Amino acid sequence: MRTSAVSSGYSRERLTHPCHCGYSGDPQHQCSCTPIMIQRYRSRISGPLLDRIDIHIEVPAVKYSELADRREGESSTAIRERVERSRDIQRERFKGTKVHCNAHMPPRFIRKFCEPDAAGHRMLELVTDRLGLSARSYTRILKVARTIADLAGSEGIRENHISEAIQYRSLDRKTM
Ligand SMILES: [Zn+2]
Repeated sequence: MRTSAVSSGYSRERLTHPCHCGYSGDPQHQCSCTPIMIQRYRSRISGPLLDRIDIHIEVPAVKYSELADRREGESSTAIRERVERSRDIQRERFKGTKVHCNAHMPPRFIRKFCEPDAAGHRMLELVTDRLGLSARSYTRILKVARTIADLAGSEGIRENHISEAIQYRSLDRKTM
């Protein structure tokens, strides 16, 4: 299993293995590290670095049988259309400003465009307290949630958009 990090500033970075032996969280292999070892290993990736990355995703090792499975998921044409629609929404939102996508929103735009509904607020509060998120990480969750809502064609940011965005901050979690 590897942990990848993708920045929606359009650069892509592969960060690290999840632990010293590389198998923590891997359903196929037993990790041989102790929790203390894992914590020490992960603390080497600095918080400020993680803060600068919008999306953290754990990518489990894929079995050959799954790679060879030819059944299709959602077609790339359908995905492309959805992404283009969300880009249109963003262009419209930022018309007449220098910003052209959610990732580049300054704080005043985040306040204006990223206000979640009441349930979304509660979820954010809970998670911020529990995970001890940095202000920067909190902001990234809001921006990513805005994009998830745009992809879903939703004007408001709802609880499920917030919770999906939180899942993309897996490296912020104190215990994984
Ligand atoms: Zn391990």
